[in-house]
Amino acid sequence: MAPHAKKFKNLINGKWLDSSSRKTIKSLNPADTSDVIGIVPMSSKDDVDAAVKSARKAFNPWRLTPAPKRGEIIFRAAELLLKNKDALGRLVTREMGKILKEGMGDVQEAVDMAYYMAGEGRRLSGETIPSELPSKDCRSVRVPIGAFALITPWNFPVAIPAWKIFPALVSGNTVVFKPSSYTPVCATRLVELITKAGVPDGVLNLVHGSGEETGDYLSTHPGIDGVSFTGSSPVGERLARACQPLGKEVSCEMGGKNPIIVMDDARLDLAVEGALWGSFGTAGQRCTAASRIIVHRRVYSRFLDMFARAAKKLKLGDGLEKTTDVGPLVNFQQMEKVLDYIETGKEEGARLVCGGRRAVKGGLKKGFFIEPTVFADVKPWMRIAREEIFGPVTSVIMAKDIEDAIAIANDSEYGLSSSIYTRDVRNSAVAERDLDSGIVYVNAPTIGAEIQLPFGGVKKSGLGHREAGGRGGALDMFTRWKVIYRDFSDRLQKAQMT
Ligand code: NAP
Repeated sequence: MAPHAKKFKNLINGKWLDSSSRKTIKSLNPADTSDVIGIVPMSSKDDVDAAVKSARKAFNPWRLTPAPKRGEIIFRAAELLLKNKDALGRLVTREMGKILKEGMGDVQEAVDMAYYMAGEGRRLSGETIPSELPSKDCRSVRVPIGAFALITPWNFPVAIPAWKIFPALVSGNTVVFKPSSYTPVCATRLVELITKAGVPDGVLNLVHGSGEETGDYLSTHPGIDGVSFTGSSPVGERLARACQPLGKEVSCEMGGKNPIIVMDDARLDLAVEGALWGSFGTAGQRCTAASRIIVHRRVYSRFLDMFARAAKKLKLGDGLEKTTDVGPLVNFQQMEKVLDYIETGKEEGARLVCGGRRAVKGGLKKGFFIEPTVFADVKPWMRIAREEIFGPVTSVIMAKDIEDAIAIANDSEYGLSSSIYTRDVRNSAVAERDLDSGIVYVNAPTIGAEIQLPFGGVKKSGLGHREAGGRGGALDMFTRWKVIYRDFSDRLQKAQMT
């Protein structure tokens, strides 16, 4: 037990409160479970009711606050996040497990999003369109939707909440945020900083708790107008089915089974480096992780040999140590799930060329570590090639030519991110045109999205609007269009009847 573990609270209407349930959730360091990161409330229905009530009450004054003023508050949040990047980045590593460079990157994404959305406070533009009638003008404006429930996973414990909170707030919505119960302390620190930046009471509320209870009750709450969810496809699809008939705006960013195609004309050293980062960065716990490497038959053996040799050299360990390449899985259940998939791969007849076991030597048994694992000769029908594993396990599949490689890549229920390594302009153009995913990379792995472009996928990977910046990004998620016709002719004019 951890007698001195720090206790954290919910934020409701500007006050930090315990739950009326008196129940709690303990957050542990996945690299060393004797390190308790903190204890947070397990919220009751009453807590959720109070948070939703507070968000509803705050909506009108916040909606009427000029958007540039809302943007200024978000700008201050960006500055505070930057000032606290080091401490927050270390906390991400301790609570989620990713290596420190990635922990810092997680916070940097939040900083980038805050600066970007602060600028939207002075844009949020619609269109002015000429009227067919004299002395009449027509324009479209973005209006906020209301009180939003934001539900987020553990793999980007600062970045993903920031991707939702900042666009929601700059657009004039209020928020009830339920973070993952595996990374609640990161979420609390993020909310503390945003609150310090000057967000008025009730505009941003935080309720901790489990998905099945708190998340489910919050997302279907009658006081909630919109839900933005990121997490697994089964949970997202269930949530959308429950919320859509209730008339709520719903957007879900979900899982992936992302392919990298390696053509026979590719620079193989670059492709190996990209496949390593794509497969084993964040221990494979990214929605955009490369879990299928589809390799042209002419370079298959050479690529596999180079890839497996490089994977064997990756060093597992605590993400806070400078020499660590790959950190732990986030929790025991996730580790067990990944080990089960490794057994499935063996039973299905795939060839295990490296890894495949829990790593326990050198103090690693205090955490949830799995060796970087490569399966070769994987067939597209195998479960390890079709289902999202969300761990350091990747499947190498042989392809005959570019058409065959693209057909294998697209033969998936998912469609988030895909990539091709090639130096042939035709191969690149065909892949850009025909890969069926929300994001396509050329000569880069499937991970590495930038915040100023829309982020999201097709098929089981995404539902509703895209996240992040750019045309068709998060502002579409958090606003509705309103069209205004203003007639100043002082007479009744009838459209289509002149
Ligand atoms: P998850 O189990 O689906 O949980 C995501 C969030 O939903 C958590 O806050 C969870 O709470 C909550 N939740 C669970 N059941 C719920 C319910 N019935 N009603 C409402 N909320 C519920 O996913 P995860 O394991 O945290 O994250 C990994 C998954 O996220 C992977 O599939 C990954 O691909 C996906 N992901 C997608 C993207 C993207 O942008 N496409 C980005 C990152 C991750 P608890 O934590 O308490 O269970």
